[in-house]
Amino acid sequence: MNRAWWRLAGWVLALAAMTALMLPFRERLNDAHVAIGFLLVVLGAGAQSGRRVGLTMAVLAFLAFDWFFVQPYDTLAVDKPLDWVVLAAFLVMSVIVTQLFEHARRETASAQRAKQREAIVASVSHDLRTPLTTIKALAHDLAADGDERAELIEVEADRLTALVGDLLDFSSINSGALPMSIETNEAEDLVGAALQQVMGSATGREIRVSLDPANPLLFARFDFTHTLRVVVNLIENALKYSDPRSAIELMAHRDGPWLAFVVADRGPGVPAAERERIFEPFYRPDGVPADTTGIGLGLSIARALAELQGGSLVYEARQGGGSVFTLRVPAVNVPETAEV
Ligand code: ADP
Repeated sequence: MNRAWWRLAGWVLALAAMTALMLPFRERLNDAHVAIGFLLVVLGAGAQSGRRVGLTMAVLAFLAFDWFFVQPYDTLAVDKPLDWVVLAAFLVMSVIVTQLFEHARRETASAQRAKQREAIVASVSHDLRTPLTTIKALAHDLAADGDERAELIEVEADRLTALVGDLLDFSSINSGALPMSIETNEAEDLVGAALQQVMGSATGREIRVSLDPANPLLFARFDFTHTLRVVVNLIENALKYSDPRSAIELMAHRDGPWLAFVVADRGPGVPAAERERIFEPFYRPDGVPADTTGIGLGLSIARALAELQGGSLVYEARQGGGSVFTLRVPAVNVPETAEV
């Protein structure tokens, strides 16, 4: 006999004990007393042994209730219609409670699994980072001596480091452990820092920057590092998914209560059916060439970072073809830092 059967046997015994306990007083007990006594057994079975045992016990308790405690005794027949109602209510209650327990058990189990997965991702990512740093440093030395293959190693090590970084951030966002320091910052500083970061990968590409001329001092409350990361990611995507001869637009403007950073390209855009899915973790549409770098984490991290700061990140099709990604963060009207 396996464990589930032993458990069931144990609970049947508990039901028998409960019946034996109440039986001598059945003339004095009312329906509610009996229902509570039996419900205790069903609850215990559902909580300890899961839905199947819980439901089996619910049915057995229902039968015992009817047989021993509903007149006429020692038969399944029922005299009064009201007793039927009591029995039916008892059965429904037992089933609902058992289902609730099962639901709670599943939630707990899946939360535990998610936590374990994040811990594994975090520790593997950390372990990967250290050798990557060594590889990069050695390749850098060799590249300085003019070895072209070493340059390639360095580029690939950078790529892997970025990927590991994405995995780490993804896991810390999901476990709620991402540090966040939200301050009043200026749009221009962020645009400048973003341009500087993408300079390396944007060689030969035109990036047109425009800051709202009507409102040159644009302030908002955001975490500088995280927001920079989002904007850089959007620019890199725009570069990656558009024709190398086409220009990329980077704009910042006030949009009601928001400061909007807009990155627009003249690439193929995203088909209507994919527009929300591209923000899902690890999602890459079928058409993406296999050698395109990335694992489909960028936009999901970007959106999570935007939302953690009280902002948003959305996609819109661009008029005339291409993509427009808009990051919104809460704007600041009278910035403390700009007071003179
Ligand atoms: P990755 O670039 O690693 O695939 P992302 O999360 O950054 O991951 O992007 C998910 C998908 O969204 C990409 O695979 C691509 O198909 C699509 N996408 C993102 N940015 C653009 C863009 N500017 N133009 C067209 N498609 C894009």
